[in-house]
Amino acid sequence: APVLELRDVWFSYHPDRPVLRGVSFTVPRRGHVALVGPSGAGKSTILALIERFYEPDRGTILFNGYQPSIAECRQRIGLVEQTTPILHGTLRDNLTYAAPDATDEQIRDVLEKTNLTEFVSRLPAGLETPAGEHGGMLSGGQRQRLAIARALLARPELLLLDEPTSQLDAANEAAFAQTLDQVAGECALLVIAHRPATVRRAQTVIALEQGRISTDAGLVP
Ligand code: ADP
Ligand code: ADP
Repeated sequence: APVLELRDVWFSYHPDRPVLRGVSFTVPRRGHVALVGPSGAGKSTILALIERFYEPDRGTILFNGYQPSIAECRQRIGLVEQTTPILHGTLRDNLTYAAPDATDEQIRDVLEKTNLTEFVSRLPAGLETPAGEHGGMLSGGQRQRLAIARALLARPELLLLDEPTSQLDAANEAAFAQTLDQVAGECALLVIAHRPATVRRAQTVIALEQGRISTDAGLVP
């Protein structure tokens, strides 16, 4: 079974105003799918349904071919948002806080995949100490890659990303897109994106418009 399958999903926040109107698509195991479409099309709502913050009015969402519990969803599906809340302390602190049981080897591995190895002792917030004392702050782009590293430590089978590059400049967006390629080998990605450099990396692009898939070009069967 694909890692994720939506079958004819309908959803409304208010009665008689459906936000999703029969959405069906799949994300293959280790696949990389981009979800595009204008603001208000329903993209974030799809992610919220996959995470089971809401339940569909109609239709089903299958994870590995079955309906998982909410606990399983949170455990096996990672989420990276537009901006990443970061704790005071170093980048390493930010990883071990989220995953106290992670081994040094796992931490090395996720830092390598996200091209952050050289920044491990940097202070993401850079607030407690004068800039430079710990090698300076992390840029917005580095912080988004940290979000991926943090999510990967939980060994998710699917990573949902909600406009992860919308706040980044072109150079940081390119570095982020490269990180996505490195991660795509080990877990499936569903990325809401609007900027071409991020969308281009996906194997499949799904376009959503007013709660419906507006093209099936390139849809994975
Ligand atoms: P997108 O992510 O494509 O911009 P959203 O999924 O955020 O779209 O929103 C789809 C529609 O649902 C919009 O009309 C939005 O106003 C509405 N909507 C989103 N979240 C809520 C909510 N929590 N309560 C009510 N309406 C919402
Ligand atoms: P980029 O490297 O992608 O150009 P920036 O470093 O300029 O990103 O940061 C993007 C946003 O995050 C800016 O609004 C900036 O004020 C904020 N920001 C950057 N670094 C920090 C930090 N260490 N602590 C708090 N906010 C930060």
